Amino acid sequence: MSDLPPSNSDLQAAAWRNVRADFPVLHQQVNGKPLVYLDNGATSQKPRAVIDALVRYYERDNSNVHRGLHTLSMRATDAYEGARTRLARFINAADPAEILFTRGTTESINLVARSWGHAHLKPGDVVLTTEFEHHSNLVPWQQAAKAAGATLKYVPLLGADGEGGLDLAALDTLLTPQVKLFAFTHISNTLGTINPVAELCRRARAVGAVTVIDAAQSIGHVPLDVQQIGCDFLAFSGHKMCGPTGIGVLYGRRALLDKLAPDETGGGMVVQVTYEGATWKPAPERFEAGTPNVADAIALGAACDYLDALGREQIAAHDDRLVRVAMEKLSALPGIRIIGPRAGAERSGLVSFAFEGVHAHDVVTFADEDGIALRGGHHCNQPLMRKLGLTSTTRASFYLYNTEAEIDRLVASLARIQKFFA
Ligand code: PLP
Repeated sequence: MSDLPPSNSDLQAAAWRNVRADFPVLHQQVNGKPLVYLDNGATSQKPRAVIDALVRYYERDNSNVHRGLHTLSMRATDAYEGARTRLARFINAADPAEILFTRGTTESINLVARSWGHAHLKPGDVVLTTEFEHHSNLVPWQQAAKAAGATLKYVPLLGADGEGGLDLAALDTLLTPQVKLFAFTHISNTLGTINPVAELCRRARAVGAVTVIDAAQSIGHVPLDVQQIGCDFLAFSGHKMCGPTGIGVLYGRRALLDKLAPDETGGGMVVQVTYEGATWKPAPERFEAGTPNVADAIALGAACDYLDALGREQIAAHDDRLVRVAMEKLSALPGIRIIGPRAGAERSGLVSFAFEGVHAHDVVTFADEDGIALRGGHHCNQPLMRKLGLTSTTRASFYLYNTEAEIDRLVASLARIQKFFA
């Protein structure tokens, strides 16, 4: 036997060996069948390590942070700030102060839209986004543009089924010096398209536009390095990356955060308060008024540890393998029209499809009878659905604990549904 310490790849192989055993929720029957959870685009399941981190915090350390001088408060503060440092490392932020804890992607984007939008947007300015944004990266910009008298423009999506991705040629015409901010998704929650985020940031920077990336669908699935991408802001949710609900992150470049006014005010974010007014602490405290979500931030740090033990390159490769198998098997079923990038093209670990003659809600209900959790509807992408001439799609979205055998269960269930509606 070797005396050498285990290598990284040995540790990763060990972490993968029993990955399904780490997720208690997967080991149950739904409608008399073993659960097949394929709704990871909506939210991921939680490993035991994350559940334990929550329980441990409440059983041992629970206290308010930043204000107390007693042992529990200091422990809670250390763990909360430790989670911030862990999250900074997870996305390679230059400084933990660039990590603001929020409730999730939606709150993070709203924070930028309100704080940055209010300070910087004026009549005649343009906010640029794309035709396939989740409502959370669309409505806040509609509101910010309306409030400032600015115009909102959209980079078109190519292809009748959205298979062509962003029209990068149109971007040349759209990215004018009037564009003050460009907000786009990293991975589309409906199409599975992966945007060339570093290139989009580089092109935006060339006209002086600030960039905001919606990383809700990418954060737990692919390696992500904000310095390499070169974005100004990046938003994500903990619950889609094996972490708890109610916690997320807004990454902001330090130089921008330092000049940004707070969106919410109150305790914890002030230096001095008089009857006449108040002064603000620097980031991150300036943006975290009130008691923060301490327990969930700590558990999100545990989720980072869990994902990194498996390896994000390996998770991406696993997703990729599953989506290729699913594309091949679903394409072979008659009456199924796959939306988004074509088979063989780069796409993330989700497949959206329209089922001829069957509404997506019926597909989801029938699949549930077979113990399979899918998502059907407009996926918070109403304008995109309208553009593609659809009212809804069915989406199967994969994650690190899904298997090829589960894809076979899905295909069998879809075949049963087809027979029923024929
Ligand atoms: N953006 C994308 C691409 C998403 O898929 C989602 C959630 O599905 C969101 C934003 C909103 O995330 P949350 O509801 O966690 O704020």
